[in-house]
Amino acid sequence: APQLSLFDSLPVLTETPAPQPSILTRSARVWLPKRVLFTPDALEEEFGQQMFERISAAGLPIEILKSNRLTGLRGADERETYRNAKNTLAVVKAPPSAFRLQPIPPSADWQMNLAEGCPAHCQYCYLAGSLQGPPVVRAYANLPQMLQNTAQYEQPGKLTTFEVSCYTDVLGIEHLTGSLAECIRYFGTREGAQLRFVTKYDQVEPLLDLPHNGQVRARISLNAEPVTRRLEGGTASLEARLRAMRQLALPREQGGGGYRVGAVVAPIMPIPDWRDHYRHLLDRLAATLDFECDLTAEFISHRFTPGSKDVLQQWYPNMSLDLDESTRAQKRNKFGGVKYVYQPDDMRTLKQFFYEEWQQRFPQAPVLYWT
Ligand code: SF4
Repeated sequence: APQLSLFDSLPVLTETPAPQPSILTRSARVWLPKRVLFTPDALEEEFGQQMFERISAAGLPIEILKSNRLTGLRGADERETYRNAKNTLAVVKAPPSAFRLQPIPPSADWQMNLAEGCPAHCQYCYLAGSLQGPPVVRAYANLPQMLQNTAQYEQPGKLTTFEVSCYTDVLGIEHLTGSLAECIRYFGTREGAQLRFVTKYDQVEPLLDLPHNGQVRARISLNAEPVTRRLEGGTASLEARLRAMRQLALPREQGGGGYRVGAVVAPIMPIPDWRDHYRHLLDRLAATLDFECDLTAEFISHRFTPGSKDVLQQWYPNMSLDLDESTRAQKRNKFGGVKYVYQPDDMRTLKQFFYEEWQQRFPQAPVLYWT
């Protein structure tokens, strides 16, 4: 097939030498924030107490705030604010608004946030421009009540899906919060509901024995090797994520978690030689999942908004990510907001490529959507 001239000319990423095996196989460093804050309200919650014990056992010093407001998080400039915030975990009580769930098509029926803010450093971060205030990780101490609250959103006679990864990487903070395990145990008891989460981390061991009862779809965020290596700071390597996905999907009798799994290929970017890189990714995935399992795919092309571009350029002044509006098409949402996506012809080419390549390797695994 002819190469896309537009994509070939896009200076999305610059070439770097091939990675050494040690980089490819590294696990993500476990996130250990420099500051951990607890609000008084959070400490009154039983689940907040459990988090307190967990974080104390990890040897992290904890500050108990005098009021329930998080203040004093800003540094001298945006860079310092960002650095401080990414090193701060605040355990707070979710506000009443967190109990009014929002639909989140096409990913799931509803989103429920067990935390907001993420320890990783992706240069294209989806959260840029959508978080209020500095990007501190705020974990919710009243999670059990939030979970009970989801029951009223279940639709009788239909599997209702709940996405918990919209505003954080749930596995990246799990060693400190235990929140994902709490969600998995809860949804394991709900016949009519399914929990969906996605991660770029790989510490799945503590999830393997949880009683999920098939009511959970564990998805791993995957991308072409050059994208994961250069743009996804602080996350697990691609190799480590693939290993984690295998562990999650393997049947229990073979030492795995027996989870339904999913590949979220995102954000798809037409980097130089993109066909080769993405084919290689799908080949590696096929080699990873060389046994029968319940697998789905989601394909998400890269996009940005004027607001997210502004924030990302403050967070990552030396970024190598292409955010040139002139090469993109504008898409408007129903409220008039603009996002920049690839041109329609380019989108079609990318979409066709991914559907064909996926179906060749995984004929039984449905593609849930392309966006
Ligand atoms: Fe942002 Fe997701 Fe990367 Fe976290 S893992 S920094 S939320 S894009």
